[in-house]
Amino acid sequence: MIYHEPPTRAMRSLVRGEGSGSAPAGMTFEEMREYIRSYDVVRRRDGGTCQSCGKPHLEAPHLRLWIKDQTESLCAAHNLELLCPACCRRRARLAAASITGFDPDVVFSREDMRCVYCLEKAEQLVARVDNADRDDPDDWACCCQTCSKRRGSMSHDKYIAQCHDKARELWTHLREEVMRGA
Ligand SMILES: [Zn+2]
Ligand SMILES: [Zn+2]
Repeated sequence: MIYHEPPTRAMRSLVRGEGSGSAPAGMTFEEMREYIRSYDVVRRRDGGTCQSCGKPHLEAPHLRLWIKDQTESLCAAHNLELLCPACCRRRARLAAASITGFDPDVVFSREDMRCVYCLEKAEQLVARVDNADRDDPDDWACCCQTCSKRRGSMSHDKYIAQCHDKARELWTHLREEVMRGA
């Protein structure tokens, strides 16, 4: 977890002892109570303003609570910071870049945001090879969610060959259609 969503109304009533349900996954009831308390403190402290771009008057659900240090308490106010969703996404990408050693944005723009399989514009990034070298940008490609799901456990090379076969079949089919029509 690198950030929190704002607490929901259901979470608040749960803490007040009203309503039923349970704390979100990965959080004990006590942590949820601390989290809600911290959220209110941080919202007041940061004045509902994104601490990265300065966008003011943020209300749930248009804000995130960024966790500054993963090794510290994930719910303590001093470890949380108010961000707008756009800045949160940007920061999450940078955090991913520091793990993988490269910025996925570089790969996205290298591939012109297109899925390497269906050539549609895509936002999701997946590994190009079976056992991606996480530190090597050449081992990564842009891939849409649909193709990622379709590819499943198939290797990149096998799947892209299948895509080419399908394209060839479609091409043959279309050519036959045209010939028949002519
Ligand atoms: Zn922002
Ligand atoms: Zn695709």
